[in-house]
Amino acid sequence: MHRITVIGGGFAGLTAAITAAEAGARVTVHESHHTLGGRARTAEGPYRTNDGPHALYNGGPHWAWLRQRDLIGPLAPIPPLEAARLRLRHKGALRRTPPFAMLKLLRRGVGPAPVDIDFLTWATGIAGEEGARAAAHYCAVALFHHDPESLSAAFVQERLRRAAKLPPEAHYPRGGWAGVVDRMAALAWNLGVRVETLSRVDALPTETPVVVATSLGAARRLLDDSSLTWPSGRTALVDLAVRTRRGDAFAVSDLDAPGWIERFTAQDRTLAPAGEQLIQGQIPLAPDESKADGTARAEELLDLGFPGWRERLTWRREAVANGRTGAVDLPGTTWRDRPAVDRGDGVYLAGDQVAAPGLLSEVSFNSALTAVSLALGRRELDLKHA
Ligand SMILES: Cc1cc2nc3c(=O)[nH]c(=O)nc-3n(C[C@H](O)[C@H](O)[C@H](O)COP(=O)(O)OP(=O)(O)OC[C@H]3O[C@@H](n4cnc5c(N)ncnc54)[C@H](O)[C@@H]3O)c2cc1C
Repeated sequence: MHRITVIGGGFAGLTAAITAAEAGARVTVHESHHTLGGRARTAEGPYRTNDGPHALYNGGPHWAWLRQRDLIGPLAPIPPLEAARLRLRHKGALRRTPPFAMLKLLRRGVGPAPVDIDFLTWATGIAGEEGARAAAHYCAVALFHHDPESLSAAFVQERLRRAAKLPPEAHYPRGGWAGVVDRMAALAWNLGVRVETLSRVDALPTETPVVVATSLGAARRLLDDSSLTWPSGRTALVDLAVRTRRGDAFAVSDLDAPGWIERFTAQDRTLAPAGEQLIQGQIPLAPDESKADGTARAEELLDLGFPGWRERLTWRREAVANGRTGAVDLPGTTWRDRPAVDRGDGVYLAGDQVAAPGLLSEVSFNSALTAVSLALGRRELDLKHA
């Protein structure tokens, strides 16, 4: 029987642990925090904000895998009346529909975008500069970068298509991702996985195989390998609760600059006390921008979509997520160019900035499966889940 050590108990680590245990391995997970989940944690208390993921995209590979194991749990569907309250800021005003030029990029006849060219150059040829910029900014919800126009056209096009799909791919586990994490942890436990929390690993274990399922920054330090880097985003997160008012927007997508604000209680009433609404603004920051700049932009969107929010405010929290929103690919690069999963000598990486396809946490999921199949020498795991 194989033994396998997993460092990190986030979505990647739990996926790796379950996959390895199902394949018959004896698994130990070390997690430095006192709870599992990593970025997929949901805050305790009356305002159940998510540190990281909210949406589970049903077009992703993790959807079927989680479903097969009954790990998704109850979902919080967006009522159609609420979904109709999605607003777009364009040229300073709120509108209900995207600019026509932007829609040109979503037509069936538009072929795959090139990898080597930036999105703005490629998309301007189809939709004009205004349509191209609006489309790039709309993708902020799925790529969290201050300058999506400058990224690889192929990378942004994939996110645009998935973020704009109808019916929407985004689904919301009721109560946040904490429930998904709890169910994954329970399954791991039932499969005999040994989970050690408050167990920070500062040196690689001598016994291999080891799956390092930390952030890429933590893996860089652990493996003492300065090559373990890849671009990501820096995003101001503004969480707030306001007293309920009929007619508030469900979400506001900023097409003038990257930014997204969503009222998560529209689909899930359990996230805030009765009579209050929980909102999160996600505003990508340029390198020279501060948290205050992001907050100011979030407040502009709040003023437009949530009239009187200042007087209705009951709770507020601000943070910056730096390098925590997954990989972004520059022109000339794809996921295949990111740090490889196989580091040699029985050490494998899993996480959302390594060489695996997908959107956001799907990269953590895919890389975890690849890491385990390589670690156990079982390529068929790869094929089964490809
Ligand atoms: C604002 C925001 C919004 C997002 N929205 C979405 C979304 O809607 N949908 C989506 O799919 N994804 C989303 N994501 C991305 C998603 O959160 C991540 O891709 C995913 O949670 C990463 O999981 P992971 O297991 O790879 O890493 P992590 O969650 O970072 O887990 C790594 C774990 O390793 C532990 N660790 C680190 N170092 C050590 C050590 N030395 N020893 C032991 N343990 C260690 C950490 O404590 C942590 O628990 C979002 C992210 C952010 C920040």
